[in-house]
Amino acid sequence: MGIYTSFAANLLFPLHEKLKKHSTLTVKRDLERSQWLKPEEILALQLARLREFLTQCALHVPYYHDLFRSLDFDPKNIRAISDLGRLPLLTKDIIRSEFDRLRSRLPEPVRLFSTTGSTGDPLRFNISKTRVSHDVAAKWRATRWWDVDIGDREMVIWSSPIELTRQDRLKQLRDRLLRSKLLPSSAMSQADMDRFIADIRSFRPTMLFGYPSSMTLIAQRAEQQGIRLSDLGIKVAFCTAERLYPQQADVLQRVFGCPVANGYGGRDSGFIAHACPQGGMHITAEDIIVEVVDEHGQSSPPGVPGEVVVTHLYSTGFPFVRYRNGDVAVLEEGQCACGRGLPLLKEVHGRTNDVLLAADGSIVLAIAIAMVLRDMPGVNGFKVIQETLLHCRLQLVTDTSFRQQASESTIRAAFRARLGEGVQLDIEYLDAIAAEPSGKYRYVVSKVSQHQAGRVGATSN
Ligand SMILES: [Zn+2]
Repeated sequence: MGIYTSFAANLLFPLHEKLKKHSTLTVKRDLERSQWLKPEEILALQLARLREFLTQCALHVPYYHDLFRSLDFDPKNIRAISDLGRLPLLTKDIIRSEFDRLRSRLPEPVRLFSTTGSTGDPLRFNISKTRVSHDVAAKWRATRWWDVDIGDREMVIWSSPIELTRQDRLKQLRDRLLRSKLLPSSAMSQADMDRFIADIRSFRPTMLFGYPSSMTLIAQRAEQQGIRLSDLGIKVAFCTAERLYPQQADVLQRVFGCPVANGYGGRDSGFIAHACPQGGMHITAEDIIVEVVDEHGQSSPPGVPGEVVVTHLYSTGFPFVRYRNGDVAVLEEGQCACGRGLPLLKEVHGRTNDVLLAADGSIVLAIAIAMVLRDMPGVNGFKVIQETLLHCRLQLVTDTSFRQQASESTIRAAFRARLGEGVQLDIEYLDAIAAEPSGKYRYVVSKVSQHQAGRVGATSN
């Protein structure tokens, strides 16, 4: 650890957190200990915390007070994590309609957050300082798995509107002190990418953090221009907020000359899971209970894809209990080779609205279509837009090695096989794929009813 990193991690950041009344340091210290507990010890810890958390909810949160009473559910009697299954899922619609009754009556300081949903309908909720501390500490622990600490040079490739509008002067100062630099990556032109590449070269970050799609675009541009980025001493590229495709990981690893670590979480769900260098995607089990459920809201076993449902054990200010976050994932059985007892996620398939609906109503994961397109010679970018059950548009960015006639017939056959014979496919050729308003690139956008597309349990059929 360099002198500045040590100064930032041991003095500057602790001071910053103290001023903000966060308990991040204590939480991180505890997390670094508990990660080595045995799986059954972690489970016992989770269970004790769940009981305590739900007891607090019953006492101070009107929505849960009434819900538990109507179900004759007494948190003190919880005997196993599976008892959670007696409670209904918390949907975004419930959060919207019950916002006021979901707020704890305890005078705990909270901040109002709002996420930009893909449907344009924002989700508002409160996050307490306790919860922020836990989420920040969990991220901190995960970066340390990769020998990176707070204060190490971090380049953030990000474009969330929340982040940008809050770039006030204080935050800019904090970022400068903690050596974090933002590259706003929404709608990057080639000139932007060239500037970012120069920034990365001169900043020489220890880690990259951001959307895999944006990082991959920058990496590919550097490679095309013959600019080397593998000699900067970058230790790791942290990917977050989008599904990480293996092909992207390959590009990032090659161009930046570092391993790629996938993280999974969100403002609403918290810091759910993060990869360790041995490849395990560890769930932050001390803070978050992750269930993967079928279409009836019942837990799916490891290996079976289903919807992600999270219970954040430190969300007392505004409880997230069995919150359906809209993603599809698969749990993994067993333990990671690193020896940490934290349970594992096998795969995160991304948003349930990153799935397509076949004409017969069954779910097609985005990856099924992506696999066909990403290995096709001459395809440099693509996006599938499902307009209706029977009409899809495919946007393609190709180069001269693309063999239009043969490739189009392969693509059409693949779409027919997965979506149904009667589905109309329009293929459009573009110079570039536009980012979503949020700045993220999405490969698959389905405009078919969210409600239908949310019933992802059907994938296990
Ligand atoms: Zn591990």
